[in-house]
Amino acid sequence: MSKRLEPAPGVLYVVGTPIGNLGDLSPRAKFLLQNVSAIACEDTRHSGYLLKTLGANAPLFSFHKHNATNRTPQLLDLLKNGESLALISDAGLPGISDPGESLVAATKQAGHDVICIPGPCAAITALVSSGLPCNQFCFEGFLPSKGKSREEILLRVSKENRTTIIYEAPHRLIRLLDELEGLCGEERSIQIAKELTKLHEQQIGSTIKEVREYFSVNKPIGEFTIVLAGATKEAVIPPSSEDLLEQMKVLMKAGASANEAAREIAKSSGLAKRILYSLLHNPPISNND
Ligand code: SAM
Repeated sequence: MSKRLEPAPGVLYVVGTPIGNLGDLSPRAKFLLQNVSAIACEDTRHSGYLLKTLGANAPLFSFHKHNATNRTPQLLDLLKNGESLALISDAGLPGISDPGESLVAATKQAGHDVICIPGPCAAITALVSSGLPCNQFCFEGFLPSKGKSREEILLRVSKENRTTIIYEAPHRLIRLLDELEGLCGEERSIQIAKELTKLHEQQIGSTIKEVREYFSVNKPIGEFTIVLAGATKEAVIPPSSEDLLEQMKVLMKAGASANEAAREIAKSSGLAKRILYSLLHNPPISNND
């Protein structure tokens, strides 16, 4: 099959850019950015620096979640007029917890080709360096910061058998680890990838307990991607009364009523809600009591 010359007219190129190390920009991505007719970027100031160092002088169009709807027709017009357009985000692959998805969909809908120039992605980079199973995995991106949807997602993640990848801001990392510990237990394997591809890149593991201990003395600073092992057969053995109570307490701490917490854990454990509700009022006597 003959390869058409790049950049071709009327094509949207989704271009991966570095997540830290500028050496990770591929020669093909560089060539593309130097030769397209226009570049849509999440933040023109942020990307302006990278583009300037590349000698990429095409006109820049901001494209972010607040102007995507208004900007899309203008970008589609460029394609319709036979221009080539590159889409980049602040870092990594556009569309992955970054703007891009809607423009790609609209471009295809308008009958234009979309070609991805692959590049770094924090999720995949963290996954393949985690040592956890990579053959099947889930990507959750950023979890909702609070509320019922966060609780529901966390509960689902805790029961998921596949490896799960989560993005999290540093100031929320410890809370997330606390929640995961309550739902998955302290021995679940986890790897926290910090500052991937950068000078101070670090992998922190290997259990939730160890990671919590680490961050109790090391303030989370930088960019983090969390890779959580899937629930194993042992982990889905019916949890003890103490575990069930702990899971309900985590939900209640996040704002659920006792009734809601009992209902949620009933769903996840398969136990009757009334049993769980009564556990809240007659907690099990611990061995230490
Ligand atoms: N589009 C990007 C990608 O392809 O990975 C993700 C953008 S998202 C707005 C930013 C989040 O990705 C950060 O909060 C962090 O969770 C993760 N991330 C980005 N760069 C990272 C890095 N160098 N090391 C670890 N995590 C990173």
